[in-house]
Amino acid sequence: MKWGMVIDLQKCTGCGECVAACKLENNVAIVAPKESEMGRTMLWMDMLTVYEGEYPRLRVRQFPRPCMHCDHPPCTKVCPVRATYKNEEGIVAQIYPQCIGCRYCMAACPYTVKSFNWYKPEWAPGIRETANPDVSVRPVGVVEKCTFCVHRLQKAKEQAKSDGRNLREGDFQTACAESCPAGAIVFGDLENTSHRVNPLSRSPRAMRLLEDLGTEPKVIYLKEVD
Ligand code: SF4
Repeated sequence: MKWGMVIDLQKCTGCGECVAACKLENNVAIVAPKESEMGRTMLWMDMLTVYEGEYPRLRVRQFPRPCMHCDHPPCTKVCPVRATYKNEEGIVAQIYPQCIGCRYCMAACPYTVKSFNWYKPEWAPGIRETANPDVSVRPVGVVEKCTFCVHRLQKAKEQAKSDGRNLREGDFQTACAESCPAGAIVFGDLENTSHRVNPLSRSPRAMRLLEDLGTEPKVIYLKEVD
């Protein structure tokens, strides 16, 4: 089993719904503009902007960028306390209580997907109840990132077990895939030929970011049709 994601750039409109859904699902801190200006924005799913061509034929396009959950993740190799690792299903995970906040992993990640948490978790009155109880709230001073909504996966596995059956495609979705109104994000087991991500990941339009680095990302983009 190797969890992965396909993002179809032909379908993606850059609406940002996946970014918002990820923030809400994972209790990611909302940062004031002043803090953002200091580079302290926290996003587990970011929206990248790419400029193509030159004015007046300039084209601007945005596309979502979660953690790539690399098969050869540079971040796990540099962590001095093994607070980040790749699990047996290919998900690159963080162990928050173990993290000492050195940020080596942030420096090593070529996709800049990791965020340092500068904030003590606090909520305005009445807002605490809106936090997702299934996702741990990170303490100040640790590094955090997209987990492929591993808490949803865990729940789906437990449900399948109590039903006495194997996990099926569609038993769980990441929050970003579920929220995308264009159906541009598909999540599943890259090794399972019955999962949609399997043939999509082998499409002639498939490409990975910074492929030359040998990180083997498990987030695959489908190029736009010319
Ligand atoms: S910031 Fe935390 S997870 Fe990252 S390398 Fe340092 S200890 Fe490891």
